[in-house]
Amino acid sequence: MDTKKILIIEDEPNIRELVLYNLKTNGYDGLAAEDGIMGITMVHREKPDLILLDIMLPGKNGFEICKELRDEGNNTPIIMMTAKTEESDKVMGLDYGADDYISKPFGIREMMARIKAVLRRYEVTGELIEDKGKDTIITVGDLSINVERHEVTEGRRRVELTLKEFELLQYLMENRGHVFSRDQLLNNIWGIDYSGETRTVDVHIRHLRQKLSDGSGEDKYIETIRGKGYKVK
Ligand code: CA
Repeated sequence: MDTKKILIIEDEPNIRELVLYNLKTNGYDGLAAEDGIMGITMVHREKPDLILLDIMLPGKNGFEICKELRDEGNNTPIIMMTAKTEESDKVMGLDYGADDYISKPFGIREMMARIKAVLRRYEVTGELIEDKGKDTIITVGDLSINVERHEVTEGRRRVELTLKEFELLQYLMENRGHVFSRDQLLNNIWGIDYSGETRTVDVHIRHLRQKLSDGSGEDKYIETIRGKGYKVK
């Protein structure tokens, strides 16, 4: 198995060093960037398997980095490192396409567990090709997803989704016809145990629709039920 490459973008040297050290002792190939500009450059150059992203950074902040990468079609899993008290940071990060977040100050074991979980959820691409016969395929009309390989096709077109977009679509497709409220989706997909910040769900649905519709903004699959939520038709 190849060594996973993990990039931490963080301006505080203590945190950077601590995380780098622990990445190494846990068998990862750790890389670091100390500002936003360098961070983006290293993502392009090193193509890491996962990014640990601080929010307050010189050059470019974590939100801008996240948005820039997603806008250019880069789906590398991102774990945002947010300040403990800033609930809104957490939600904003997810809106910009981060896959998970961890609150500062974090325990190093929690951080390693989070990395492992996100990588495992993402693994899929690549390793399981020969096992295709056993893969779970969910199909709705022309839309088809391969759960193990995290692949989505619409007609003959391959659709590139972020981890959260994929999980959201998978959940809706597995429960086809069932209407879910924004709070339910937030709980089930993001595991956020509070209500109110449901904008995250709307943002992801909007992105999903754009991607499934090949740019026109109209998709055939996701239906908005006024006052209730969303479902897959
Ligand atoms: Ca910082």
